[in-house]
Formats: sequence, C-alpha cells, structure tokens
Amino acid sequence: MEIKIDNLYKSFGEQVVLNGLNLDIKDIHSIVIIGPSGGGKSTLLRILAGLEVSDSGEIEVNGERIPKEEEGLHEYRKSIGVVFQAFNLFPHLTALENITLPLEKVHKIPAKDAKERAEILLKRFGLFEHEGKYPHQLSGGQQQRVAIVRAMALKPKFLLLDEPTSALDPALTKEILEAIKELRKDKKDMVLVTHEMEFAKGVADCVIFVSGGKIVEMGPPGIVFENPKTVELCKFLGGVD
Ligand code: ADP
Ligand code: MG
Repeated sequence: MEIKIDNLYKSFGEQVVLNGLNLDIKDIHSIVIIGPSGGGKSTLLRILAGLEVSDSGEIEVNGERIPKEEEGLHEYRKSIGVVFQAFNLFPHLTALENITLPLEKVHKIPAKDAKERAEILLKRFGLFEHEGKYPHQLSGGQQQRVAIVRAMALKPKFLLLDEPTSALDPALTKEILEAIKELRKDKKDMVLVTHEMEFAKGVADCVIFVSGGKIVEMGPPGIVFENPKTVELCKFLGGVD
C-alpha cells in the first residue's frame, strides 16, 4: 500500500495528540507502529480508519484522499477492516452471525453468499466448530480471531489492527500472531500497532516509531530495532525488552 500523510494535527481539548505528523511510504504490505503509551498511535489508526477526523492535514491512501465530511467518511469506512484491542463482537450474536450480519446489512450481500464467505474464513482460522457459539462461550483468542475473520470477510482494502493481542495472555497471543502471519502470507495490506517487538521484527516491512504525536524514527525492522538513532527509541526498546 501507499500512504502519504501531510502535516497531521489532532487535539483533544488542550491536549495536542498528533503534532504535525508526516509519512510518505509506498510498496509496503505491513506497517507496524510502535511507541510509548499516550504517544498517539491509536488516534492515528482511528483517523486512518475514518473513525476520527483530524483538525488539519491530509492523508492519501493508495492515491485516494481520506474524506473529512461525514458522507464520504461513511463510504470510506466500509472499505476498511478494523480490529481493536477489546474484541468488540456483538454479544447477542453467534460467531457466524457476527461475521454475516455486517456483510448482509452494511454490504448488502445475500445471506447465502455471506454465510459461504464467512465459513471459508472460519475454517481457515480454525473456528468452524465454534461458529454457533456466542462470544462469552469463546476464549479471548477465539473471539479475537472471529474479529479478524469479520474484518477480512468484508474484503477490505486494508486492515488496521490496534494492539490486537494486548488483552490476551501469552498462549492466546501466540494464536493471534499466527493468524496475523496468515494474513501476511496473503499479502494483505495492514497497519498494526503492537507491543510484541519480536513479532514486529518478523512481520513488518516498515516499522514506525510514534512518540509525542510525531514519527520519530522509521524504516525496515532490521534498521529500526538494531540501529536506533534517537535516545528516545533506545530508551523505549530498552524498556520493552
Ligand atoms: P496510544 O495509542 O499511543 O497510547 P492514543 O492515541 O490512544 O495513544 O492517545 C493519545 C492521547 O490522546 C492520550 O493521552 C489520550 O488520553 C488522548 N485521547 C485519545 N482519544 C481521546 C478522546 N477521544 N478524547 C480525549 N482524549 C483522547
Ligand atoms: Mg493505543
């Protein structure tokens, strides 16, 4: 994917969260965002998802400008798959229905086709035997895999994942990381925020270190992790490892 971000600003009240952030990358399948808590990672992701609008600045993804008015945003959002930290499944729907309902209601796909599409993905992500279960009957890892399948079923232009493993214990984290590797095999374009540094090394084409509402360092994982240039990134990596 190709992303151009030009001078992005976002404040909440007095607090400046994104402080003139710039980015210009292309021919990248997986972008991994790392950085300290409160640095603006989720805000950036929410703006990329069309869930939040910047105060100023422009973003182009694959040559298309992200709209700022509600009408355009509504359409834009439909083309993007989003997976959050908390699983965000509908509690009163089964795993299968969580996937098929948005396909039917939002994307107007006939029920039979929606079910077929969902079941192919449920099988692939090892969830087929759980399709009739409700979220509370699934483990955290299974719920998060359903959330990933739901996002994938929409055939999004790209996927945004915000700390998809941070609510999971280590064993379940592994299961989600495997699922993300599976997406990578498909060369699915994705932007992933994670604290799993080892994983980031393996999966990222480009690593972006966001702190204080700006990109402080970026580059291929071999460079960013092995050869950090700023004291800030050194400290961050030291603290995480
Ligand atoms: P990160 O994901 O890197 O931890 P965030 O983008 O979530 O950072 O948050 C950056 C800062 O913006 C935090 O201090 C947070 O409290 C604040 N913030 C984020 N979203 C909102 C919001 N909707 N309203 C008010 N403050 C917010
Ligand atoms: Mg966050």
